[in-house]
This record gives sequence, C-alpha cells and structure tokens, in this order.
Amino acid sequence: MDRHQLFLVDERIKTFKTWPFSDKEKCNSWNMAEAGFYSMATGSDDADAAKCFLCGKEMDGWEASDDPWAEHASHAPHKCGSPLFQLLEFLSVVKQYMINEVKRVAEVAKDKVDERVKPIIRRCHRKK
Ligand SMILES: [Zn+2]
Repeated sequence: MDRHQLFLVDERIKTFKTWPFSDKEKCNSWNMAEAGFYSMATGSDDADAAKCFLCGKEMDGWEASDDPWAEHASHAPHKCGSPLFQLLEFLSVVKQYMINEVKRVAEVAKDKVDERVKPIIRRCHRKK
C-alpha cells in the first residue's frame, strides 16, 4: 500500500482485517484508525499489532477497554497523539462551519427563487 494513503482514516480502517475487538469495544478498529493507527497484522499471532502512520510507533497487547487515543498519546514519542487530536478537532469544527455555511447559502438561494416564482404563479392563477 502507498504510505501516503495511510494519511486517510478510511484507508487505515481497511487494514484492520483481523482486528480482535468488535465495534462495541472501546478499542475497535474505527477508534484505532481515527487515533492514527493501521494494522501490522500478518496472521493470528500478531492480530493486534498496529502502527501510527505519523510517528511510526508500533504497539500491541491491546485490551478491549483501551482508548486508542489515550494509549497513543501516552506511549508515542513527542506526544504524537496530542497534535493529531487537535488537528482532527480543528477539522471537525471547520467541517461543521462548512455544513452550516452551505445550508445558509442554500436557504438564501431558495428565498430568491421563491421571490421570483411568486409573480409567475400569481399570473398563472389570474389567467384561469
Ligand atoms: Zn503517532
């Protein structure tokens, strides 16, 4: 796999084919991928081997109740998880802003269309 693809969370999730924990557990593959990890598993013996795409920290011996973010931040060099965390939080704020802005622009456009349509509808009713 192209290393740059691992910058994308969707690509990291795809690597967790033999992850031992279900989606109901805190330490599920989605939370792992979101915290920067991709699977390093080569078989059932190392099914929980994972590596951070950013700092390269390899970790295994995961527990079902582990929080991938917290484990990453406490074991990785230079607190890798922390800036990643902040970046993702920032991006989620930007995403919400963009969604709100698109809704606002759509609302303004709808009002303008309604204003232009009103006289046409009125004229149509008069002709009947
Ligand atoms: Zn890292």
